[in-house]
Amino acid sequence: MKKHTKRKKPLNKIVALVLLVVLGYMVIQTGSYILSQGEFPILSDINLFRKEADTSLGWNLILVNDDYSIPGNYEVELTELSNGEKVDSRIYPQLQQMFDDARAAGLELFVREGYRTAQDQKDIMDERIQQYRDEGYSRSEAKKLAEEYVAEPGTSEHELGIAVDINADTSKCSSDAVYTWLANNAYRYGFIKRYPEDKTEITGVNNEPWHYRYVGVDVAREMQEKELCLEEYIETLK
Ligand SMILES: [Zn+2]
Repeated sequence: MKKHTKRKKPLNKIVALVLLVVLGYMVIQTGSYILSQGEFPILSDINLFRKEADTSLGWNLILVNDDYSIPGNYEVELTELSNGEKVDSRIYPQLQQMFDDARAAGLELFVREGYRTAQDQKDIMDERIQQYRDEGYSRSEAKKLAEEYVAEPGTSEHELGIAVDINADTSKCSSDAVYTWLANNAYRYGFIKRYPEDKTEITGVNNEPWHYRYVGVDVAREMQEKELCLEEYIETLK
């Protein structure tokens, strides 16, 4: 009997240590959630596996999604567009050229949304959650539904300033015409359709024919030719 308990002891210590590490990790995750969101999380709010995005491949290749969040110290220099939306100054010349050429092709389009702060993103998320709560869903259900359409603060490409939502001026031309032109031409200016219909399993985001993200002309061309989404392209670099 004595021998038995002795043999068990080291295992107990290991289990306790593992539990302590897991608990500590959860406390840190919860703490950072409270700091960034200003409220205590419910269990489904925390992605325990989320890491900070890798910036070593260059500003144009930062992968941000539900698993990789924007580094807290990320800074961006912005240029304001004529309608008040802002974008990272480094993508402005190519964006302008793309719009000039699309307009020359007879399209009427505009940047519906460019740069967003983490606070903007949180406001959008909160608004969506409230809509679902007003419809009678519980907080966790409402959050889950909202997340199907809205990225969590810290995980939206709009917070990088290198993504834009492009819409048609539908009084002058159709959305389809704009989306089709972009799908066929945006890569020439370094932009990719970030959430294609046939890649939703990988990106985790529904088809968004309006959301374009800058990666640079060479990368965009390769992605277009090989039909890769950004997650897949980044994987080829490893
Ligand atoms: Zn977008």
